[in-house]
Amino acid sequence: MPLRSALFSQRSLLLALLLLLGCGFISTSLVSYYASRSSIRDNIVNTELPLTSDTVYSEIQKDLIRPIVVSSMMAQDTFLRDWTLAGETNPEQVTRYLSEVERQQRAYTAFFVSEASGTYYQAKGILKTIDPSTERDRWYARVKQMTAPYEINVDLDMANQDRMTVFINYKVFDYNHNFIGAAGVGLTVDAVVRLIDAYQLRYQRAVYFVDARGKIVLTGSSGGPEGARAGISLDSIPALSPLLARMPTPTTGSRDYERNGQSHYLNVRFIPELDWYLFVDKPIGDSLDSAKQSLYLNLAICGVISLIVLAMINGMIRRHQDGIQELATLDSLTHLHNRRAFDLLAAQALLEAERTPAPLTALLLDLDHFKELNDTYGHLAGDEVLRQFARVLEGSLRQADILCRWGGEEFVVLLKDTDATKGLAVAEKIRQRTEERTFMFGETAIELTTSIGLSSLHANDTLHSLIARADLALYRAKQSGRNRVCCEPSAPDHG
Ligand code: GH3
Ligand code: MG
Ligand code: MG
Repeated sequence: MPLRSALFSQRSLLLALLLLLGCGFISTSLVSYYASRSSIRDNIVNTELPLTSDTVYSEIQKDLIRPIVVSSMMAQDTFLRDWTLAGETNPEQVTRYLSEVERQQRAYTAFFVSEASGTYYQAKGILKTIDPSTERDRWYARVKQMTAPYEINVDLDMANQDRMTVFINYKVFDYNHNFIGAAGVGLTVDAVVRLIDAYQLRYQRAVYFVDARGKIVLTGSSGGPEGARAGISLDSIPALSPLLARMPTPTTGSRDYERNGQSHYLNVRFIPELDWYLFVDKPIGDSLDSAKQSLYLNLAICGVISLIVLAMINGMIRRHQDGIQELATLDSLTHLHNRRAFDLLAAQALLEAERTPAPLTALLLDLDHFKELNDTYGHLAGDEVLRQFARVLEGSLRQADILCRWGGEEFVVLLKDTDATKGLAVAEKIRQRTEERTFMFGETAIELTTSIGLSSLHANDTLHSLIARADLALYRAKQSGRNRVCCEPSAPDHG
């Protein structure tokens, strides 16, 4: 059994190794996880999102810039201005003009509102007279007041079954720069919404437009952040407060922020023609899944490797310890237990015998005339005889019996659960087998006998007193002619 201190140092060695391997593996796994995480993040923030917003922008541009150009042409059209200044006498002329614009620029509805008469003209005829005090016509007063030449307004088109429409409202001036009305086109946002939907689906990110004041102006069909519809201000969406804390008004650039406990990357881009900001937002949970999976895989592999390494080292230490233990407890010549091991085993056997209680018998054996044998055949022959005699002893005893080389050509045996009578039989068996056996050293046959002293455990016996009585008995065996078994006084002798 390994000593406590050896066990302790083995455990602390394994623990230290486990810590070392664990720390090493975990730190390299984490380093590579954070490296791949930051490269994924960099890629999304610096490349993917700006690229998507570029693409969305150029597509939107195609769809939205053209009506601005058309509206600008209308505002500067001499016919429209001349006809208005001439008193709007023949409305058919202007409605024809507007339907021509519509014919040439399909998908748009063209309009003109005269400042002088307040009439709202469209391709199909006169729609109504503008009343800027109503909610619906408030846009006209705004256009009239604005300093910019045009505005883009997302509104309901009452001439078009109240469909959500992007209006380009251009100011029209006479040749002296007097405001004479507003002209422009409207296009239904369906087309833009479909475009946004297609982008959201293709790139798995949210795309929406926000005006300079932070109001959502255009979203895909499923709405903007947290499903917010056009018209809602970003600051009325609680989930966006961490973002708005860092970006109170829309600002061009890429940034990451937390939303409902999840990290998001956001690219904001100003679109000057629209005076809107394009928001492209991507939750990063999914993109980091692969990095997370490889982290878990890494950790699992490292864990398995650590366990295998520790098991191997543990096995090596065990084998090494067993080897050392064997060296420390076995006699190198006969491979029987040595005195050190015997002392431990015998103390335990005595304790058991006393506790049970059970009989216990000790045999002390001394080979006869061994000095002579050495002198006759040589020391090596003596060694070989000792080895072979050890096998005779082993062959004559049970597994449970304790057998030890006491020193020189002397051996000691403890027979468990064995009284003097049974012990005597075992001793006699050993004596007989030794006598009858021919020991071989190479070709040389060597005869050998052994004398045996026997003692049985008494109450209050110590190992020392038990062996001392066996020694006395052995002395008697030698004295009375050798090759015999003698018992301690009061037991019958044999041989
Ligand atoms: P007896 O016991 O019958 O009285 O005579 P003996 O010759 O055996 O007496 P003694 O105990 O004095 O001698 C023991 C001899 O055993 C002396 C020693 O050289 C020899 N011996 C002890 N250990 C070894 C060993 O490991 N190998 C060999 N070859 N001889 C050993
Ligand atoms: Mg001796
Ligand atoms: Mg001897």
